[in-house]
Amino acid sequence: MPIYNEVILAKELIRFPSITPIDAGIMKFLAKKLSTIGFKCKILEFKDKNSKPVKNLYAKLGHNQPNFMFAGHLDVVPPGNLKDWTIKPFNPRVKRGHLIGRGANDMKSAIASWVAAVSKFVSKNKKFSGSISLLITGDEEGIAINGTKKVVEYLKKRKEKIDFCLVGEPTNPNKLGEMIKIGRRGSITGHLNIIGTQGHVAYPHHANNPSNTIIKILKKLKEINFDKGTKDFQKTNLEITRINIDNSADNVIPGSARATFNIRFNNKHSSNSLKQKLNKIFKSVTKKNKCKYNIDYLVSGEAFLTKPNNTTYMIQNIIKKITKVKTKLSTTGGTSDARFIRKITPCLEFGLVGKTMHKVDEAVSISDLKKLTKIYSNIIENYFK
Ligand SMILES: [Zn+2]
Repeated sequence: MPIYNEVILAKELIRFPSITPIDAGIMKFLAKKLSTIGFKCKILEFKDKNSKPVKNLYAKLGHNQPNFMFAGHLDVVPPGNLKDWTIKPFNPRVKRGHLIGRGANDMKSAIASWVAAVSKFVSKNKKFSGSISLLITGDEEGIAINGTKKVVEYLKKRKEKIDFCLVGEPTNPNKLGEMIKIGRRGSITGHLNIIGTQGHVAYPHHANNPSNTIIKILKKLKEINFDKGTKDFQKTNLEITRINIDNSADNVIPGSARATFNIRFNNKHSSNSLKQKLNKIFKSVTKKNKCKYNIDYLVSGEAFLTKPNNTTYMIQNIIKKITKVKTKLSTTGGTSDARFIRKITPCLEFGLVGKTMHKVDEAVSISDLKKLTKIYSNIIENYFK
């Protein structure tokens, strides 16, 4: 049975230009590697209207409980301007102790570490009591319609029981070992449209300028004090990301005005409770100003928290021991696929240092990569002890 080396495997994975939703053969490649150490692999291709098909992988070793799952993604963001890279982004190179390439950080290397750790574990423990599984998606960096969300539905339908999930996204801001994510804030985006009455600027009484209304509304939105934050979460925050009043003439009062905002919210709110709160403001201000409005919401995820349990503390202690860094349990940052996975199992996230993710010359320190394999190895050994 082969024992995989994380650096070699990470390089092999980076060579696939798997920019979302392109698979480029990477799922099949990883499935083959996993098969050689005993995994049963299922490549799941999902399609939906208004989206491109995406390949995902569910691989499992063993039939018994507990089932410990590792989750991650093999898709990457586009490299951007190739001239800004010091290497070819899909031709990885090691320079000054760092492996450089698109996905080196987010998050092909963490997958390589996990596979290396599992290969070591199964070569020593041919018969362990439990199972190890991997949920790998190709749609994390994209619109996330045909990715983890659908794999989770598939697992639910098959009544596949997962006892714990470790998501290998880069969670450390600066140093390996700093941060485990035990939850994420929710995210909701609103597209607001205010409809007034177009007219001549010199005769405003014959028109109804929607810009007055939208300014009032946006000011009110920014003044909302959603909460003070909680022990586990930052304060809920609203940011206005776009204001748009199309107008091609200087002497015309425009007929409509639009704005977009995003709220990152903690578990004191749900997307529904926020919608209700905001709709009240839209209603009252537009009524006063005799305008109409419509609002479209897009919810990328609700806030959630996985209450720390023994597995959480076991993992935290292993990380502390290997990295000699004080490991924080945190809920900061953006959303991740944990928002889907937490519906079927408790999960936490721990991976590499995220400093260079999505940047040119994305890189991972070789020493971090090796330490991560050690951490993952210890987690597997302890979990099945
Ligand atoms: Zn990622």
